[in-house]
Amino acid sequence: MALILYNTLTKKLETFAPHEGTTVGMYTCGPTVYSYVTIGNWRTYTLGDIVARTLSYNGFDVRYYMNITDVGHLTGDNEGDADTGEDRMEKAKKKEGKNAWEIAKFYTEDFKKGYQALNLTQPIAFLAATEHIPEQIALVERIEKNGLAYRINDGMYFDTVAYEARGYRYGELSNLDQIKAGARVEFNAEKRDPRDFALWKFSPTDGTVRDMEWPSPWGVGFPGWHIECSAMSMSVLGAQFDLHIGGEDLKSTHHPNEIAQSQGASDKAPFVRHWMHGAFLQIDGGRMGKSLGNAYTLHDLKSRGYSPLALRYFYFSGHYRNPLNFTWEGLDAATTALGRIRQSFAAHTTPDEQSDEENIVPDESYKDRFMSALNDDLNLPLALSVLHELLKDKTLSAAVIQKTALDFDRVLGLDLGAETKEEIPEVIQRLAQEREDARRTKDWSKSDELRAKITEAGYEVKDTDTGPVIHKI
Ligand code: AMP
Ligand code: ZN
Repeated sequence: MALILYNTLTKKLETFAPHEGTTVGMYTCGPTVYSYVTIGNWRTYTLGDIVARTLSYNGFDVRYYMNITDVGHLTGDNEGDADTGEDRMEKAKKKEGKNAWEIAKFYTEDFKKGYQALNLTQPIAFLAATEHIPEQIALVERIEKNGLAYRINDGMYFDTVAYEARGYRYGELSNLDQIKAGARVEFNAEKRDPRDFALWKFSPTDGTVRDMEWPSPWGVGFPGWHIECSAMSMSVLGAQFDLHIGGEDLKSTHHPNEIAQSQGASDKAPFVRHWMHGAFLQIDGGRMGKSLGNAYTLHDLKSRGYSPLALRYFYFSGHYRNPLNFTWEGLDAATTALGRIRQSFAAHTTPDEQSDEENIVPDESYKDRFMSALNDDLNLPLALSVLHELLKDKTLSAAVIQKTALDFDRVLGLDLGAETKEEIPEVIQRLAQEREDARRTKDWSKSDELRAKITEAGYEVKDTDTGPVIHKI
């Protein structure tokens, strides 16, 4: 079955096919680790995860990488010009009284925990920008050698006009108005063209000392924001690779700059054949923002009693190319729906020997419908409805339903199987132990009484040769 995915580069739905064989080189732009990752950011990383899982489900061999932007970047990039303003890491440092390295380490660890909690596909490596400075310098050198870099007072810049003179078009992914608007925000007057951007920035000369700076052929400083993704993705996936993912905001500056740097250095186009961009998560119908107090994190969800997987389920309620509106009521609904799926899945539990039988395979017709939904540019709402329908199907055996649901969960990652290895609350385990003790002393009335208590709490005890086994009813 063909896998159809929208390609932002060609602005078309396309049958996805990797450049070579069945191996897909894939890269998602990762977090800037100067504060907690928000549920907006997590929507984009969940898109990366779903794409990776869908590719694997389709039999592709995925080579997945994600960067961690741990070099501070300039706050101006929020307005579309990453080369102006105050460094984010330096700003966080002032606020938190830690040095830039400590801040990056703290938020990187927090990010990785959240990443696991959301069941996101582990990349082959998280590539930290600070650990790949030589690759970034080498790439800038290649760009310079090709005549596409120039020096001004505060750094080395990419020359978009010279790049276009080589026959490339700058800004393929974006619409030009956005670029122009972005470029209007206070830019360095020495830039030859408003679209030019920093490849390497010099450390300040006013005596302030940066925590993060490195020597380079052009002077002590730090890399421009865009160069890390070009340098690191090319170093692990080659000068040209298959798939690149990020949030829709990256279409206007970051990704066009990645393309220009990479093609400008390697002289090979296209840098990436297929680009995917996720629409933003909104909050209560509006923008999410730190200043608005609604840039929720996984910690905020946890403190209100929500699980990360409920958020994962919530993301699946919309199509990735449409904005998704987050509300607490929506998360409640996702929590309930996920709970129902779990319960219904667990209700189909069969003894291990039965469900492990090799002749039990996922139901073909449901699998087809599930895969058609996924392969239609990741129609997850439809894929979820197929799962709901499957779990209610009275014509299939419990074992087949479970096998099929577990097969779907390879993509959905909702940990359906975890419920079969059910966690029995301690209080129930204690009751079961007391009942076992009563049975040993042949106190049948006490044993019956305890069984009734256990049943009332929603569990059942089965006495087997190897002792009592407890299940959720
Ligand atoms: P940042 O840490 O700001 O560089 O953002 C990291 C990733 O999250 C980028 O791919 C952004 O496009 C994405 N992103 C930022 N805000 C949102 C949002 N509200 N919804 C979805 N993705 C977002
Ligand atoms: Zn990037």
